[in-house]
Amino acid sequence: MHVLLVEDDLALVQTLARSMAAGGMSVISCSDGAEALTLARKRLFDVIVLDLGLPGLDGLELLRRLRTSDNFTPVLILTARGAVGERVAGLQAGADDYLPKPFDLDELMARTQAVARRRNASGDWRCGRLRCERTQGTVWCDERPLDLPPREAALLQALIQRAGHAVPRQRLHEAVFADESVGSEALDVVLHRLRRRLAQAQVEIVTLRGVGCVMLEAAPAIAASLADGASLAEGR
Ligand code: CA
Repeated sequence: MHVLLVEDDLALVQTLARSMAAGGMSVISCSDGAEALTLARKRLFDVIVLDLGLPGLDGLELLRRLRTSDNFTPVLILTARGAVGERVAGLQAGADDYLPKPFDLDELMARTQAVARRRNASGDWRCGRLRCERTQGTVWCDERPLDLPPREAALLQALIQRAGHAVPRQRLHEAVFADESVGSEALDVVLHRLRRRLAQAQVEIVTLRGVGCVMLEAAPAIAASLADGASLAEGR
């Protein structure tokens, strides 16, 4: 796996590069945003791990320029803990996932691999423990098929095929209700039911106010705490 590591904290770069190399990844690191953009356009990487605060060109602008030039290399952004605005801005700019600093090395490795794997899988859509077959639309949680009501299935498909990217509310509404005339609160009801049903699937459906929703792979700890309140079987 080829990784472009864009980070200007050189001590952090050393630590990360060492762990990634030990985990079998081939790493090129770069501390300047403008140089990183040039590198990302010149070479093919499986994933870019991107710090947002960078000299030369900040990470968010780098990401926007990549995406507007149709470069869809998976990107995992590193953000300051608690900076919700940064995380939302990053996802809107086309990041596939984010990790707040300070982070655990094992989690960084796992998320880097997950982001690359999700994009590389040629067949089915995947997120967390979910897999959705492109052909039949059947949804699996690990090796178990999920029997979802049609509206929840339609919503899940609309979200998982763009996992890591914001899907506009209008598009979700069309996917679920086609041209039925129902109010916009009907979508919230289906969203609520789907969230409960996916409590153990290690995914998180985040609402971006005024934009839409995004499906993310949830950290195992978050998934475990969600599972305390609901189970996959509930609500059937
Ligand atoms: Ca920085």
